[in-house]
Amino acid sequence: MPADPAALARDLLRCPSVTPAEGGALDLVARVLGAAGFTVERVTFSEPGFADVENLFARIGEGGPHLVFAGHTDVVPAGDAAAWTHPPFAGEIADGVLYGRGAVDMKGAVACAMAAALDHLAASGGRPKGTLSFLLTGDEEGVAVNGTVKLLRWAAARGERFDHCLLGEPTNPDALGDMIKIGRRGSLNGTLVVSGTAGHVAYPQRADNPVRHIVRLAAALMGEPLDHGTEHFDPSNLEITSIDVGNPTVNVIPAEARARFNIRFNDRHTFASLKALVEARAAAAAQGARWRIDWEPSNADAFVTAPGAFVDTVRDAIVMVTGRTPVLSTSGGTSDARFIKDYCPVVEFGLVQASMHGVDERVPVADLAALTAVYREIFARYFG
Ligand SMILES: [Zn+2]
Repeated sequence: MPADPAALARDLLRCPSVTPAEGGALDLVARVLGAAGFTVERVTFSEPGFADVENLFARIGEGGPHLVFAGHTDVVPAGDAAAWTHPPFAGEIADGVLYGRGAVDMKGAVACAMAAALDHLAASGGRPKGTLSFLLTGDEEGVAVNGTVKLLRWAAARGERFDHCLLGEPTNPDALGDMIKIGRRGSLNGTLVVSGTAGHVAYPQRADNPVRHIVRLAAALMGEPLDHGTEHFDPSNLEITSIDVGNPTVNVIPAEARARFNIRFNDRHTFASLKALVEARAAAAAQGARWRIDWEPSNADAFVTAPGAFVDTVRDAIVMVTGRTPVLSTSGGTSDARFIKDYCPVVEFGLVQASMHGVDERVPVADLAALTAVYREIFARYFG
């Protein structure tokens, strides 16, 4: 009898695992995978000033190829629980739809991957032809200091070598089968600081108003596109998100103005080349203004998993099960894939994004069955 992803997902949704709480979610995963023959390790990471967070690594089989399913069992808070049609941690099913915080992001996909693994093992004599593992963190939605980065390092230190990774984040905008993520844009924050000379607003010739300069510099930074996109990426974009002077007095010219911005960038850039490009634009528009850019550290550089056999395997499985041909995309925000890509090629495919992080987060039971079938098909093709 095939495993029941809806029952697994329902049980996971009943675990109140709001980051950093484990909430019983990893216990459940450990029980299910342990019973199927996986070797399960629970790893707790600590960092001064942050809550300890539990993580899990489970593996079955020997040798290559080694496919790792990655994901998280922590969830964002429910917000106003009274606004939900069904309580956020009750795992109720109504009219074929499962409700609960984490239904699509991403306990649903974790349940589907477990069900698919159980089915695959049952169909192949209890072991994969290679190695199948689960790398699950409890620290994805929070500050993420005790999660995937440390778990990957921990796994590498004990000799785990992954050939490919399937990350189960919700990737589909509207319907299951819409979209695979084969990469992610990078993200970089900065603050443009313009210094002037304070003075009385009635004597501007004796002052140097930084507001005049920052308006011109901000327009220059946002003016022309940073590039024209690349084979797999949209054009890089700089967005100013705040211009701050902090001046409470209308008749005083302030001494300083600041503009915060974020850049989402493609694989044409490195951090260094991007900073140089933005600073050259500012310099060209400076007209003598005194300016600098304070760059924040970032661990989100752009990456892409080149289309090839692994991407084909995932895409073909999706086409077979859903009848839809997914777009290979690098759109959207960052994900833990940016850490995994340093260890092996990673592709993301999960549920439909629409209700994630919202009130009444929910997933049709039919989508859980279909995603399980997709994962099962990926396992079957991957392990031949
Ligand atoms: Zn997620």
